[in-house]
Formats: sequence, C-alpha cells, structure tokens
Amino acid sequence: MLKLKLHWQILIALVIAVIYGVTLPEYVQYVKWMGDIFIRGLKMVIVPLILTSIISGVTNIGSGGNLGRLGVKTMFYYLTTSLFAIVMGLFFVNILQPGAGADLGFTKEVEGLSAARDSFGDTLLKIVPSNIFTAFTEGQMLSIIFFAIIFGYFITRVNKKASANLTEFFNSAFEVMMRITMFVIKFTPLGILGLVANTVAEQSDLLNVAQRLGLYMLAVLLALAFHSTITLPFLLKFVGNVNPKNHFRALTTPLLTAFSTSSSNATLPLTMDAVEHNAGVSNKVTSFTLPLGATINMDGTALYECVAAMFIAQAYGVELGFLQQVIVVMTALLASIGAAGIPMAGLVMISIILTAVGLPLEGLGLILAVDRILDMCRTTVNVWSDSCGAVIIAKTEGEKLKV
Ligand code: ASP
Repeated sequence: MLKLKLHWQILIALVIAVIYGVTLPEYVQYVKWMGDIFIRGLKMVIVPLILTSIISGVTNIGSGGNLGRLGVKTMFYYLTTSLFAIVMGLFFVNILQPGAGADLGFTKEVEGLSAARDSFGDTLLKIVPSNIFTAFTEGQMLSIIFFAIIFGYFITRVNKKASANLTEFFNSAFEVMMRITMFVIKFTPLGILGLVANTVAEQSDLLNVAQRLGLYMLAVLLALAFHSTITLPFLLKFVGNVNPKNHFRALTTPLLTAFSTSSSNATLPLTMDAVEHNAGVSNKVTSFTLPLGATINMDGTALYECVAAMFIAQAYGVELGFLQQVIVVMTALLASIGAAGIPMAGLVMISIILTAVGLPLEGLGLILAVDRILDMCRTTVNVWSDSCGAVIIAKTEGEKLKV
C-alpha cells in the first residue's frame, strides 16, 4: 500500500478540508466530529505526558552525580539560549501582529475571559498547588510542572532501591506516553480535515485567514532564522571560540534528519555521532549534554510556543499587557522544557501557556493546519542549539575540537 509521509497526508487533508468547507458548508457536521475527537485526544495526553517527561528528565539530571560543574554550565546554556529565542519570537510577533484584526469569529466564544484571568501575583502564588489532584483534573499546568520538578528531585534523594525503582518507572511511563502521543498525532490529517473544514465553512473572508496564518508563519520563521543564524553563531564564535561554518558542516546530516523527522529524539543518535566524531567533542560531554538537550533544550519550540500563544491571543482579540507577556515568556520556557522530542509535542504544550493566561484551548485548532511545517523548522533549530551547546561546553572544559 502506498504510504505517504505525515506531512504529505496533512497537506492533502488541508486541501480537501478547504475545498469541503468552501463547497459544502452546510454538511460540515459530517467531518467536524473528527476535529473534536482529535482535540480531545491531544487534551488527553497533555497532563500525563508533561508529568512523566519532567519527572524522568529531572531524575536523569539529578542521578549519577551529574549535577556538578558540567550540569550547572549545561543548564545555564539551555535556559539562556531558550530565553533569547523566546524574546526574539516575542519581538517578531509584536512587530508583525499576525493575529490582530483577523476576523476569525472567535471573540464571541471568550466572553468573561478577562474575569477568568488572574493577576500576576495570583498566578505565581497558585504555582504551588493546594491539592495536586485538583491541579491534575483542572489541568493547572504550572502547578503540575512545579509538583513534577519537586517529585523528580526528591526521587534522587531517597534510598537507592526506591530511587532506582521510581526512576525506572517514570522513564518507562514516559516512553509509553510518547508512544500514545505519537499514536494520537497519526490522526492529525483527519483532525485537520474536521477542524479546518469547519473553520473554513464559518469564515466569510478566507483570504484574510490565509493572510493571517501566513504572517504568523513568517513571524515564527523570521525569529527561528535570527536565532539560528545570528544568536547561536555569535555564541559559538565569541563564547566557544568555534568556527560556526565548520560546525554547521559537521552537523549537516543530523540537521537534515531533524528537518525531515520533526523529532529531536529520533535524531539524537545522529547528533551524538556528528558532535563526537565530526566536531571532536569528548564522549563524556556528548553523552551528558545531548540526551538531556534533546528533551529539555528546545530553543525553536520555546520561541514557537511564545509566537503561537500570542497569535491566538491576538486572534481572540485579547490584549496581553506587559505582565501577561512576561507570563507568556516564562510559561513558554517551561513548556519547551516539558515538551518531548517527538513530532508536534510543541503544539500539545501550548496549552500550558493558554491556560496560564486564560485563553481557550480551542485556539489550537487555529494553528494546527500549519503546525507540521513549522515543526520541521523548529526541530532543526532545537537540534542545532543542542549541538552548539555541546561544543561550547566542551571548549569551556578545555577540550581541543575539530571545528
Ligand atoms: N518536534 C519537536 C522536537 O522533537 C518538538 C516540538 O514539537 O516542538 O524537537
């Protein structure tokens, strides 16, 4: 049987959805349910995916005495580059304003939204959950992340046997959650068919929507381009004393693989091989930084999360003030840390930001159609940043490299 790659399936679904929505708007209920089930599926995986991803990430950093100087340097690199990336995204989305004035017919659905939004102080306060089960059932993402970090940390502080059992358990549970997520993601073409046909049928001005989505993609792509061709090469050159061009050449295969698979995890073996053998980084630094980076250092995803959330807010006609934007930046950082290195994990994670600033999760339907192509690009940037981190850290550890 002819097996098309997911992005081709999505493209075909998109075309069919637009034609269906335009020509048969009165029969849209026959496909709309597919979109509804798909969104429900995504919502279903969010909480267990974040929980297991963060707990297994934290236990793996904390165990084996890894939290030495190398750990601190690595974490510092991951957090600062992700923050740089997010700020770039914020800059472009504020300049281009892709969602502003888009008449997407959504404003009516979010009445009473502002009342639901907490002040900055309240948001911080509520990060500590008073009841962890309420946090789970209500999908309070920040509280869930907070609890997961603490839980993961203390797993590394209990006796050896308990610690090993729990680490094993959460690593395995994370594997299962990634499989389930991939399974749900397989249905993206059908989800898109339902969601996009419905959105198209409701639109009076399709051109406007297409234009707005185009601008949104442009904002993400410009920010990604800036981060990968200016910010990271600058750090390579001036912090790591590495030639960015040589490093890029050393990494061509994993970067192309990241682009075509949209998965940092799937690319990891190739990234490790290229960083160790082409760039000449020691096995010690490679095997510590890269597996960690593939799950928690996602500059491209972080930036994309921020732009997407801002775009959805703009499309819903919700004005986000300075403090709200600070929340978006901080939650985008957390969301990228919690995102698994698998296709479209970033899309699932946007829900963290949306709930933090009080936007409806249905906003995801808006950006779903163009997510796959952006995923290919952001995954490439994720892998590029991981590899830059590995060589910079190796250099600061006094290693002699080939790049
Ligand atoms: N696909 C990305 C990765 O594997 C994660 C994301 O969806 O942003 O790095």
